Amino acid sequence: MRLVLVGPPGAGKGTQAQFIASHLSIPKISTGDIFRANVSGGTELGKLAKEYMDRGDLVPDEVTVAMVRDRLSEKDAQDGFLLDGFPRNVPQAEILKKMLAEFGTGLDLVLELVVDDEEVVRRLAGRRTCRSCGKVWHVDFDPPAVPGVCDVCGGELFQRDDDREETIRHRLEVYQEQTEPLISFYTDEGILVGVDATGPVEEVTQRAMAALRRFAG
Ligand code: ADP
Ligand code: ADP
Repeated sequence: MRLVLVGPPGAGKGTQAQFIASHLSIPKISTGDIFRANVSGGTELGKLAKEYMDRGDLVPDEVTVAMVRDRLSEKDAQDGFLLDGFPRNVPQAEILKKMLAEFGTGLDLVLELVVDDEEVVRRLAGRRTCRSCGKVWHVDFDPPAVPGVCDVCGGELFQRDDDREETIRHRLEVYQEQTEPLISFYTDEGILVGVDATGPVEEVTQRAMAALRRFAG
C-alpha cells in the first residue's frame, strides 16, 4: 500500500507512522527524520537544510524532491511505503504524482490527522526525542520512566531546536499557507480520508487502521 500522512506539526504523524507502517509491514519514510539525520551527520544536504529547518520554513522543493526520489527508488519501497511529512505543498504533490506514474503506480490513500491548534502547541511544546534511537516522547502525554532518558535504549532525550514557541507559531502558519491546500488537492483526487487524531495514541492508530480498511480494501 502507498500512503501519505498529512497534518499540522505535532499532530502525531511520526508517532502514528511508526505503528501504521509496522502493522502494514511497509517502510515509514519521514522527510523530517532524513533531514535531521543529515544535519547531525554534518552532510552538505544537512548544512543546506538546517537554516530552513531552524526558521521553521520548508526546505526548497528541488532538494526535498531529489531526496525523496532517491529514497523511493530503494528496494524496500517498491511494494509500498508510508510517507510522513512529504508532500508538504501542492508542487511537491504534483511531482510525487508524476514520479509514481513513472514507476507505474500511484497513491492509494492520504490520511489527514485532524487536531486543533491548541492541542498541537501542547504536543509540540512537550515533545522530546531520543538522540540515540530517535523515539519520540512527551513530557506529560507519554513520559519515559526516568525524565530525560529513553526507556527503549537509555539514550539522552532532547528538545528539537524548531520546537521553541516562536518557531512553532511560524511552522503553523507555514502549514496553513502551504500544506493545507493539499487537503483539497487530495479530496479532488478522491483519496483523502480524515482521522480524528485526539485521544490516546492507540485509539488514533485504531481509527487510522479502520479508515484504511474502509477506503483501501
Ligand atoms: P513535524 O513533524 O513537526 O511536522 P518534520 O519533522 O516533518 O516536522 O519536519 C521538520 C522540518 O523539516 C520542517 O519544518 C522543514 O523545515 C523540513 N521538512 C520536512 N519535510 C519537508 C518537506 N516535505 N518539504 C520541505 N521541508 C521539509
Ligand atoms: P508530528 O510528527 O506530526 O510532528 P509527533 O508524532 O512527533 O508529531 O508527536 C508530537 C508530540 O505529541 C510528541 O511528543 C508525541 O509524543 C505526542 N503525541 C503524539 N500522539 C499523541 C496523542 N494521541 N496524544 C497525546 N500526545 C501525543
